[in-house]
Amino acid sequence: MNRPSNIPAAHPTTPSQSLAWYTLPAEQALKHLGVDEQAGLDIAEVQARLERTGFNRLSASARRPAWRRFLLQFHNILIYVLLGSAAITATLQHLWDTVVILAVVVANAIIGYVQEGKAEQAMDAIRNMLAPRATVIRAGERLGIAGEELVPGDIVLLEAGDKVPADLRLLHANRLQVQEAILTGESAPAEKNTEPVRIEAALGDRACMAFSGTLVTCGQATGVVVATATSTEIGRISNLLSAVEPLTTPLIQQMDVFARWLTLLILLIAGLLLAYGHFVGHYVFTEIFMVVVGMSVAAIPEGLPAVLTITLAVGVRAMAHRNAIVRRLPAIETLGSVSVICTDKTGTLTRNEMMVASVVTSDLTFTVDGVGYQPSGNMNLADQLIDTSHHPVLAELGRATSLCNDASLRQHEDTWKVEGDPMEGALLVFCAKAGINGEEERGTWPRTDAIPFDAKHRFMATLHHNHDRQAAIYVKGAPEQILTMCTRQRSSLGATVPLDADYWHAQANAIAGKGQRVLALAVRSVPPEHTILEFADVQGTLTLLGLVGMIDPPRPETIQAIQQCQAAGIVVKMITGDHAGTACAIGEQIGLDNPDKVLTGNDLDAMNDATLRESLKQVNIFARTSPEHKLRLVTLLQLNGMTVAMTGDGVNDAPALKRADAGIAMGGKGSEAAKEAADLVLADDNFASIVAAVREGRTVYDNIKKVLSWTLPTNAGETMTLIVALLFGLTLPVTAIQILWINLITAITLGIALAFEPTEDNTMRRPPRSRQAPLISGALVWHMVLVSILFLCGVYGIFTYALDRGYAIELARTLAVNTLVVMEIFHLFFIRNLYGTSLTWKGLRGTKVVWATIAVVTVAQFAITYAPPLQAVFATQAVPFKDGLLIIAVGIALFAIIEIEKQLRLRLTESDRQP
Ligand code: ADP
Ligand code: MG
Repeated sequence: MNRPSNIPAAHPTTPSQSLAWYTLPAEQALKHLGVDEQAGLDIAEVQARLERTGFNRLSASARRPAWRRFLLQFHNILIYVLLGSAAITATLQHLWDTVVILAVVVANAIIGYVQEGKAEQAMDAIRNMLAPRATVIRAGERLGIAGEELVPGDIVLLEAGDKVPADLRLLHANRLQVQEAILTGESAPAEKNTEPVRIEAALGDRACMAFSGTLVTCGQATGVVVATATSTEIGRISNLLSAVEPLTTPLIQQMDVFARWLTLLILLIAGLLLAYGHFVGHYVFTEIFMVVVGMSVAAIPEGLPAVLTITLAVGVRAMAHRNAIVRRLPAIETLGSVSVICTDKTGTLTRNEMMVASVVTSDLTFTVDGVGYQPSGNMNLADQLIDTSHHPVLAELGRATSLCNDASLRQHEDTWKVEGDPMEGALLVFCAKAGINGEEERGTWPRTDAIPFDAKHRFMATLHHNHDRQAAIYVKGAPEQILTMCTRQRSSLGATVPLDADYWHAQANAIAGKGQRVLALAVRSVPPEHTILEFADVQGTLTLLGLVGMIDPPRPETIQAIQQCQAAGIVVKMITGDHAGTACAIGEQIGLDNPDKVLTGNDLDAMNDATLRESLKQVNIFARTSPEHKLRLVTLLQLNGMTVAMTGDGVNDAPALKRADAGIAMGGKGSEAAKEAADLVLADDNFASIVAAVREGRTVYDNIKKVLSWTLPTNAGETMTLIVALLFGLTLPVTAIQILWINLITAITLGIALAFEPTEDNTMRRPPRSRQAPLISGALVWHMVLVSILFLCGVYGIFTYALDRGYAIELARTLAVNTLVVMEIFHLFFIRNLYGTSLTWKGLRGTKVVWATIAVVTVAQFAITYAPPLQAVFATQAVPFKDGLLIIAVGIALFAIIEIEKQLRLRLTESDRQP
């Protein structure tokens, strides 16, 4: 099977499709790709290859053409009704009515089109923010890069939780398992190794390959990129990116359905009115028909779906701006109703910028000082500077910390940065302070095998061989775990004595009590033939070297964010893999409720569901938990009736994230597996961003409610005006074409303004909304009735006033039309503050969008009132100045009445709550 020898070495990438990499031994694959495994590609070579192969991304498939997107805007029952009306008015030769109806339709389509474009942009931006990253070896250094910068020949490091960034030929695989469901449909993870397989092997059997887009569920590996972008297996079979997620949520869908039913209802009423008017009222048919059309157009909330979608798009963007990237849109709604946030500690509540501050050996406790990751600083004993060479155990600890470690330190100008886990970075810094050259140690003691860290077993072990045929296993991990694996301990002077477990537990508790993260380090020498590391090799055979304590200060913004949650009726629970003492100390610092109550993973295991559910009402700190505990906690909290937001970063957190009402993954330290399972990804891993997202979620929900609370009563008011006239045989205070005009000009302006409403002041001082609370509540129905009645009074009031004064019917109608619009504007100002007083300086000052839309409406109203050509079309007359003032007074009166009514209602519910 020597097929590949015909591949020209100069173009290792072009024919890769035809090359069966899985049949080649690893060395040959490397040779074909012209790369050395240890050094990787150098930067110039990467550039050259990048130019040849292009970026490693699947080009977003061609969008629907613009004209099609535009036409699709008309595909909607609301619009069909309007188009039908336009056709009939045209045959009845009411041309201006036809024009106005069509204008409504076109304006609506344009808005729909533009908002859809914006929504797609928002989703694109999100996709870009979620772009996967890859760890590579280039020019001999380990680097984190954007996955799309990968080129064939790059050496890629994989670990549990990663998404494979390109098609790889594996060079080393350590217990590697990959979930390849997207390619093979097989949901059980496939085990991987590095042995070439036969050419006939099916995709799922090519065990020495890791394919782009699949998820590493376990283990670690190194591989060389053999195909990128569209040459990958996934690139060939799918256009994953073509599926543009529609911008919608269950709530919005419900509203869509609601709008459709409403349309049918309106058509039914229209039919009845038509029959009534014709047979009972004996109106001229074309006239009554036009009125009924006007009524239907006014009543149909054709703008509603578009405005609601805009509201969502605005919310998505606002959240992205606050570093919360929404992966699944329904989460926006859920976030608004979250009543408990379960968050991990390290990096989310704390900064994840660690520094070793204390070191405990079998008889001494050292303190360490220094700044950040700068590898220089002193070690002290009882405040006295020490010479590290007098304490040989420190050298051994230093070696252990540098060998059992995957991170590296790099100097960027003046600051030192960690590539990898910050905790491991801190250990490297400590190692330098202990006088050990980590690089040198890693050179003389190369790693032969490793058991990677896993939150389940909470330790990591590595096996090393030096050139003098000596071998040793180094282990680091949570002290409780490591202590069960040790039988002996090292004394300060280097002797090995039996383990004094009580001493170490006491010391670990003491360090943890200071809020430091504790880690134990242990060692075992093995015979040089020992080259494979098994779990059995580390059980009960280790010698404990010592403990290190690391400080990881809380993020400054955390404390404030937690206060916000408390004010907003949201419980914050910390669920950490860390030591109970550390967790409590940090909980206290950041102001969690009941920081002295803590349950550990073992406690959880010992409790039954009923007891635990009871404890959950009190306890906010959970320590030494594993991912399974998270799942159980989410489930029980939900049973307690809470809406749960849960954070996660590890590969094993996926089930809990999926189960939570809002699963939140960490964008920075989180694994791709967690991100894939989450509804929301935090770009900055920061707890404060969760709170910001909740706030935005509440705002979006409020704004959806505001849009409805404004649109529905307004439509109802307009409609009632016409219905009342028809039923009671009154002169129409507004003509059909005038109603159409109002609908055209207000529906597309004022309603949209509400989509952009900023967060209300007291948004985070209200308790979370119940998820069962209906969007169209009793209060909203009552508001609709009230506003409709007030609209009727206003319109008929001014109409009667005008007729009484002997005004022409045209002028009376002009007054009525303007009154209707002015009332809508004042109603808008009222709606802007659903939960508080509208009559504040801030409320009146409004927003730019509000004033812009009001300006548009005002200009439009002046135009039809005073511009002769429009006067001719709409049968209007110039309004005298004094009557203009009267119209505004009517608006103010409306505002005053509904505001007083709201205040009374708010007071009543207030006093309800305080018995
Ligand atoms: P957290 O909830 O604080 O993120 P983790 O689950 O990451 O906690 O870690 C739990 C414990 O496992 C830590 O307190 C530490 O003792 C140990 N640990 C964490 N990372 C490593 C590692 N890379 N190697 C060994 N032990 C680790
Ligand atoms: Mg962690």
